Amino acid sequence: MTKRLFSFLICVAFLFMSIFSFTAKNIFFPAQESNVLSSQYTKTISLYYPRGTIYDRNGIPFTNRNDENSFGLPILQTDITQVAYYVTGELIYEENNTTSDGCYGANGLQLAYNEILNGGSPVKIVAEVDADGNLLGENYVHVVNDHYNEGGNISITLDFVWQKFVEEKLKDICEEREYKGACVLLTEISTGKIIVMASYGDYMNKTLLSYQPGSVMKIITAAAALENGIVTPQTEYECVSSVNVGNQTKYCSDKTVHGKISFAQAFADSCNCCFYETAKKLCVANPDGTYSSKALDLAVQWGFNIYGENMHKEFELDYDGHYSFVPDVLYNELNIFNAALGQGDIQASPYIINKITAAIANGGKIIKPYIVESVKDPAGNDLLEIDHEEFDLGLSDSTVKALIDMMILCEENGTASHNDSDVYGGFGGKTGTAENLEGAPSHSWFTGFFPAENPEYALTVFIEEGGGASGNAVYLFDQTAHLINDMNAM
Ligand SMILES: [Zn+2]
Repeated sequence: MTKRLFSFLICVAFLFMSIFSFTAKNIFFPAQESNVLSSQYTKTISLYYPRGTIYDRNGIPFTNRNDENSFGLPILQTDITQVAYYVTGELIYEENNTTSDGCYGANGLQLAYNEILNGGSPVKIVAEVDADGNLLGENYVHVVNDHYNEGGNISITLDFVWQKFVEEKLKDICEEREYKGACVLLTEISTGKIIVMASYGDYMNKTLLSYQPGSVMKIITAAAALENGIVTPQTEYECVSSVNVGNQTKYCSDKTVHGKISFAQAFADSCNCCFYETAKKLCVANPDGTYSSKALDLAVQWGFNIYGENMHKEFELDYDGHYSFVPDVLYNELNIFNAALGQGDIQASPYIINKITAAIANGGKIIKPYIVESVKDPAGNDLLEIDHEEFDLGLSDSTVKALIDMMILCEENGTASHNDSDVYGGFGGKTGTAENLEGAPSHSWFTGFFPAENPEYALTVFIEEGGGASGNAVYLFDQTAHLINDMNAM
C-alpha cells in the first residue's frame, strides 16, 4: 500500500467515525463490548501502525507529531516536508501485510532502529458490512487488536527548532542561488553532539554522501607537514602562480601570484603551488616505484578508508556504498598534486570533515560526533547502552594550535575574508572548491568553527556544483552562523 493510499484510507476511516459521532478516543480505546462483531461480513477500512517516537534534545517529537487534521491521532507517515526527514528517515507500508512487519523504516533512524521503533502488530479499523458491502451503521465500526504501543522511543541530539530554521534558510539560499543541492552540519564541540544535520536537493542526506573535498584536504596535508617537522607556520615559500607537475603546468586558483608568503598564509590563501611542494616532501618512495604519503596515512588514521580495502562506515547512518576514502599509494607527480589538493581518487563526506574540524577546534580530541542520545522502552527504561567513542587526532598541541591559527587567518586575511562575522565572534576554517565531472561546475565547501576564540560549534557546509567556495560555501556558512547565533541568544 502506498503512503498516499494509506493516508487516504485513514481519512476515509475518520470520515466514517465523524459521521457516526465517534471521537478518536472512543475508537482507539473502545469499550470492551464494541469489539464483538455481530455481522458475518467485515471489511478492514484501514490499519494504524503504532511506532515509537524520535525526540529532539528538548523532548520535542520529530515523528508521531500530532496534526490537527488527523482527528487526534499522531501522523505516522514521514515525508520530505517533515523537519529532519533526512535523519529520521522514511517509513514504508507494505500492501496486504497486516503483521508487525507491514510498516518499516527505509532509511535513516527509522531503518537503523527499525526493530526498536516497531510498535507491534497494527491496529485494525474494521467495519461490518452487509452482503453488498454497504456499511451497516454507526455501531458497526470497530477497532480490532488495539494495544499499547510496544515500540521503543529514541532521543537524539538534534534541536528541532534550530533544525527547522536552518532547513528553511538552506532551502531559501539554494532556491535563490539555484544550487542543485547543499547541506549543513553543526556539531557542539564540547560534547560531540550533532545539533543540526540539514540537507537539501534530493532524497539523500548529503552530509553522509562523499565528494571530492578539494582544498579542504589541505587541512590534512598541513597537519601532516607540521607534525612531521617539514614546515612551521613561518616557513617561507615563493609562489609564482605555477608549478611543473610531471610534464604539466599547474596553477594556483585564477593563476594568482601569491609571491613570498609564509606557510600559514599559503594555507589561508589556499596556494596550490606551496601545497604541492609540501606534499612532495611528505611522500616516501616505495621499492616498486610508487609513493606512500604521510598525509594520506594521517587521513586513514582519522577515519578515511583506503580505496577498495574493506571500506567501513564512519557514522551509524552512513549509506551503504558511500564512503570517505583515499588511494593506497600514489603513482606519479600528478597523483601527488591531486592528493594534496583533494582531487582525483579522494572522497570525503561532510560528516568526516566536520569531525576533523571539531577535533581541531577542541584542541586535538573530541567525542566523535553522534546523534543518538538514548533508546528507551515506553516505560522509560534504557533499551540500549550507548557508548560515545572518543576521536583523537594524535597531533601535538603545537600542531593543533598552528592549525587553529591558520584557520582563523583564512577568515582574517585569506579565502574566507568576511565583513560582519564579528556578530558571532568571527570564525576559523578552510575553503574547498573541488573539481567535479568534466564540464560540471565545481563543488563548494567550507568547514570551520565559531566563535574564533573558545569555539563552541564546528560547522561544515557543502554545495553540490556550488562553484567557487569563497563566494558560495563561505556565504552559506556565514548565514548559518548568524542564524545559530540568533537562536542561541533566544
Ligand atoms: Zn600560490
